[in-house]
Amino acid sequence: MKTSFKIEHRLGYRILRWVLSIALVSGIVLSASQIVIDAKRVSTDLDRQAYQTMALVRDAATQAVFSIDEELAQQVVDGLFEQQTVRLARITHPDGQPLGERTRPLQQAPYRPLTDTIFLAERSYRIELSRHQSQPTVYGYLEMHYDTGPTAESWLERATLTFGSGLARAMILALVLFMVYHLLLTKPLLKIIASLAQVDPDHPDTRLITTVKGHTRDELGLWVNATNNLLVAISDSQKKQREAEERVTRLSRFDKLTGLPSREYLLSLLKSAMDDARKQHKVTAVFCCGIDDFKSINDQLGYENGDLILQGIADRLDSGFNDRDFLKARLGSDQFVLVQKQLATGYQAAITAEKLLELFSQPVPAHNRSITLTATIGVALFPNDADELDRLLQYAEQTMTLAKDSGRNSYQFYVASVDQEMRERKQLEKDMARALAENEFHLLYQPQISLDTGRVIGAEALIRWQHPERGLIPPDHFIPLSELNGQIVEIGAWVLDQACRQAAEWAANGLSLRMAVNLSAVQLRQDNILAIVLDTLSRHRIPPGGLELEVTETSVMTNLEDAISKLQLLKREGIQIAVDDFGTGYSSLTYLKRMPVQHLKIDKQFVQDLLVNEDDTRIANTIIDLGKSLNLSVIAEGVETAEQEFYLRQRGCQLAQGYYFSKPLPAQEFVSFVAEFHGKMAENNA
Ligand code: C2E
Ligand code: CA
Ligand code: CA
Repeated sequence: MKTSFKIEHRLGYRILRWVLSIALVSGIVLSASQIVIDAKRVSTDLDRQAYQTMALVRDAATQAVFSIDEELAQQVVDGLFEQQTVRLARITHPDGQPLGERTRPLQQAPYRPLTDTIFLAERSYRIELSRHQSQPTVYGYLEMHYDTGPTAESWLERATLTFGSGLARAMILALVLFMVYHLLLTKPLLKIIASLAQVDPDHPDTRLITTVKGHTRDELGLWVNATNNLLVAISDSQKKQREAEERVTRLSRFDKLTGLPSREYLLSLLKSAMDDARKQHKVTAVFCCGIDDFKSINDQLGYENGDLILQGIADRLDSGFNDRDFLKARLGSDQFVLVQKQLATGYQAAITAEKLLELFSQPVPAHNRSITLTATIGVALFPNDADELDRLLQYAEQTMTLAKDSGRNSYQFYVASVDQEMRERKQLEKDMARALAENEFHLLYQPQISLDTGRVIGAEALIRWQHPERGLIPPDHFIPLSELNGQIVEIGAWVLDQACRQAAEWAANGLSLRMAVNLSAVQLRQDNILAIVLDTLSRHRIPPGGLELEVTETSVMTNLEDAISKLQLLKREGIQIAVDDFGTGYSSLTYLKRMPVQHLKIDKQFVQDLLVNEDDTRIANTIIDLGKSLNLSVIAEGVETAEQEFYLRQRGCQLAQGYYFSKPLPAQEFVSFVAEFHGKMAENNA
């Protein structure tokens, strides 16, 4: 609130107006009555003076009429005329015949119209001239006219002064009163109002109104104190209200039994989780978990134990998923919800679902025995399954109910195909865990041919998984999965070991080839990768130059500095580095220059469309030229036709690999292939 309101509304101004008008009116009235009194006095003074004057010359005038002495009469008249105010003096016989007379004109003055109405223009007096007091005989009359002008002038001067000073007095009084009022009331009031404006309506007691100095004991002080008391009281009641509201929201937000958020609160938490996921392009998974057959547990053990079990489960959920990326809630009797945020792929949800099942199936203590339960879980994913809040939770619940029908102690994803895929991947993951121990992996070797000499100069080791039930599983299916769950570390070490063992064996039989092994990004991130590689090489007595590691651009880019320093160490040991799938990633020249590599591998997609697709041809050409200019050898993978081989050779690509020469082969067949291939080349040359 600002105190700059219109001036005519201010109390001070209104008071000033009132005081001023009252003072003015009373000033006017008082001075006017003073002036009127003065006028009356002036009037009587005039009369009195006239009679006194006439009394002075009465005897002489009487003598003049008595002795009919005109000269004397004229002397008396002239004597009277010494007075300026006398306009006419006359001595007459009783019949009115003048004996002596003198007149002068009325004085002219601008104020006369006013004063003449008050005092008359002239005032006439007449006395009888007689001798004997007891039996008077009238000998004549003495007449005198007074001109009121001069007296009126001095009266007017006085009246003006009186009026002026009366008004000035009134004004001064009004101003003084106004100042006093302003100092004593308006000013402190304004201060109080300003202080009142500072009061925080939400917390009125934090900044109370300040008392104005010098007004602590008067009405203003009392008013301030009373208001402050009121503010404190309001604040108190606000506080109580807030506390009550908080209690209510707490009660509605959290489940009373378990202390976990309730459905409403979960929805609001989930909403912000979904907003975040939308912004960060992440997946959010909602797991709806229903305890299997909780009703019969309640029936058998009683509700008290049922409650204990629910509390136990809630505690376990809380501590088992205490990461910030998890939300937990209890929906209803035996239903719990877990929300997992920040997932990169929906697949990670399957891992969490398994962990949840495991968590539910651990025995819960209840009334001096322990109960083993199971739960069924429905999983819905955002944004994959539903974009809306209610829908997402509803889908998870539906899926859980459906899953209960088709068997308990399991989890199910909302979308059947996703569910299927997740199940398969999960199964694959499990199978992969024992595949190494069960000897289900083996390596194939694909020859790498020098286009200049037509000789096999190396082999790329490629893994194969012979699954006992599902048959041969291509690496594209399980390598990415193993990278996600870290199994690639073990598998990769095994591949390296097998490939080196094979290279050593071939070398011992006179076939010295460079062995190319694929190195995953996860492996490259391992701190001890250098030690692992060197150890493997030394165990199989392979010279470092006999090993080439294939890394993809992306695996280097995601962890640039670390990857480059590791590759530098490997290179320093004499190990060769090739950039696999070159052309599919960033293919940035700046980074390539910094990477300690010797070979570029043109990805098979560009080789396959060579001479068919212009863009791909241009990319392949660019890579070959890039290799030349950076002094790197270029190897084309996926060469399938004679035309491709011919074109690449013409274009200056040094090495090639692909079905045109050979598919990846088991070790034994590889040896025969090399013999046959070299034999054919010799034949051709001859
Ligand atoms: P990659 O490293 O790009 O391997 C080349 C893939 O192209 C191999 O598929 C190979 O069989 C295939 N190939 C070779 N020549 C031709 C051809 O002329 N035409 C066609 N269409 N394909 C050809 P593969 O063996 O299925 O391997 C697929 C991917 O799996 C590999 O791509 C590699 O990224 C990964 N991988 C395979 N073995 C390993 C391994 O031991 N460790 C790691 N980390 N990854 C591996
Ligand atoms: Ca490769
Ligand atoms: Ca490749």
